[in-house]
Order: sequence, then C-alpha cells, then structure tokens
Amino acid sequence: MSSTSHIKCANCGVFNTDREYCENCNQLISHTIIRQEKESKTKQREIKETIAKLEKQTFVDTLRKHPFFLVKFFGWILHSVWLLLNIIGGLIAWFVAMVAAG
Ligand SMILES: [Zn+2]
Repeated sequence: MSSTSHIKCANCGVFNTDREYCENCNQLISHTIIRQEKESKTKQREIKETIAKLEKQTFVDTLRKHPFFLVKFFGWILHSVWLLLNIIGGLIAWFVAMVAAG
C-alpha cells in the first residue's frame, strides 16, 4: 500500500506523482488546492455582494442615522445642500428654457 497520489493533468494528460502542479505544463492539478481556491473565490464574492448591498444605503443617509448628534447634524446639512442644489439646478434649467423660448 502506498499513500502517493497519481493525478492526471487535465491540461496535457501527463500523470504526476505527489505534485500540486503538473511537471510538464505547470497546470494546477491538486484537487485540494483547486477546491480551496474555489471556496475562497466564493467567499470573496459573498463579501463583495455584502459590501455592494451596504453601499446602496447612501453616505448621507448613513450620516443622518448616526447616533452622534454632530455627525447627524452634518448629515442633515449635506442633505439640505443636496436638496438646494437640486432646486437651483431646476431653476437654472427653467431659466435657460425661458431665455431660449423668449
Ligand atoms: Zn500538464
């Protein structure tokens, strides 16, 4: 009985003994490492998805819900400035439209 593992390279077909990478073409052939890499990739994707979900909640909203009142206040100011900019932008658009029409 021997505990050596003989793995056939999926890339070039060469049989390798106790190797993680193919001796002929350097293709990764260790089933353990392939499985580990797959698992770590799945984990990374899950982390990215979680971050993406968190980022959907806007920065200003996060500030406005902040427990510390100064940060909350700052959030409200940013929110007001953002609203004001939208109103000004709307007014400018309206003004340009009126000038163009007049
Ligand atoms: Zn190979």
